[in-house]
Amino acid sequence: MGDPHKAEKIALEALRGAGMRVTRPRRWIIAALARLAIPASSREIHDALEGGCDPVTVYRCLTEFERLGLVHRHEFGDGGTRYQLVDPDGGHAHYIVCRRCQHAERIHACPSPELESTAAGRGYSQITHTLEFFGICPECRDPGETQ
Ligand SMILES: [Zn+2]
Ligand SMILES: [Zn+2]
Repeated sequence: MGDPHKAEKIALEALRGAGMRVTRPRRWIIAALARLAIPASSREIHDALEGGCDPVTVYRCLTEFERLGLVHRHEFGDGGTRYQLVDPDGGHAHYIVCRRCQHAERIHACPSPELESTAAGRGYSQITHTLEFFGICPECRDPGETQ
């Protein structure tokens, strides 16, 4: 993720550009998304808000933001849905997701430039990829649980 303040500013501009009013809940949600800077569940985003706002509003705003292309929706295959501000620098990242608390954390590595060139070798263009890791995070691990 690039600069979170830049991502926040661009999201607010895009909201105005789409003719949407920048209401307090919308501003809080965008600020929380920028601060979290990870794919976060609707509940995590709700918990990170600066002001009070009911969970239904949070969910509705996130769906709206997704439709407007301000946020990416991540489906990590664990049944959860997570949202993240679109990176204005166009970068992508990979995440490890805890199976118990569902927290997602960025992994600073991308193993796939070679894989993408393999795919390109088959004549494909505009190749993208997704790759997620799952595990039990240090906070959720029972003492004595093996690696
Ligand atoms: Zn955990
Ligand atoms: Zn990658």
